[in-house]
Amino acid sequence: MDPACGFRASEDNWRLVSKQDQNARRFRRLMAASKGELVLTFDEYQKAARSTAQYPGVGQNIYYPTLGLAGEAGEVAEKIKKLMRDNNGVLTPERREALKKELGDVLWYVAALCSELGLTMGEVAEHNVEKLRDRKERNALHGDGDNR
Ligand SMILES: [Mg+2]
Repeated sequence: MDPACGFRASEDNWRLVSKQDQNARRFRRLMAASKGELVLTFDEYQKAARSTAQYPGVGQNIYYPTLGLAGEAGEVAEKIKKLMRDNNGVLTPERREALKKELGDVLWYVAALCSELGLTMGEVAEHNVEKLRDRKERNALHGDGDNR
C-alpha cells in the first residue's frame, strides 16, 4: 500500500515512490552532513557491522548471530529489570547510556543475522513498516498472527 496515496501501488508507482524516498533520504543526509552529523542508513550500518564480524563460519552460520541476538536482548531486559528493582523505575542518564550500548549490541546481531540470511536491513525495515501501515489501515494492529 502506498501510504502517501492510499492505494496499492503498481510496480511503476512503487519505483517512483522509492525514488522519491531515496531523494528525500539523500537530502536529509546532505543536511545532516552539512551540520557535521553522521547519518547511517540501515544498509550502511549493516555493511559497517559486517566488516567487524568475527565468529566461526562467517557467511554460513545462522546460529551464532541468532544466539547472540537472544543474548543481547536478554541483556536489555536485565538492565530494565534492574532499573525497576534498584531505581524505582527511574531512568538515570547512566542507565540510559548502558541501554544504548546494549541496544547497539542487539542491532549488531540483527545486522549479522540479516547478512547470514541474505537480507538487507533496509528491506527488512521497509517490509516491517509496510506491514504495520497496512495493519493500521485495516485496523488490525491488535490480535495475534504473523499474517494478519
Ligand atoms: Mg551486550
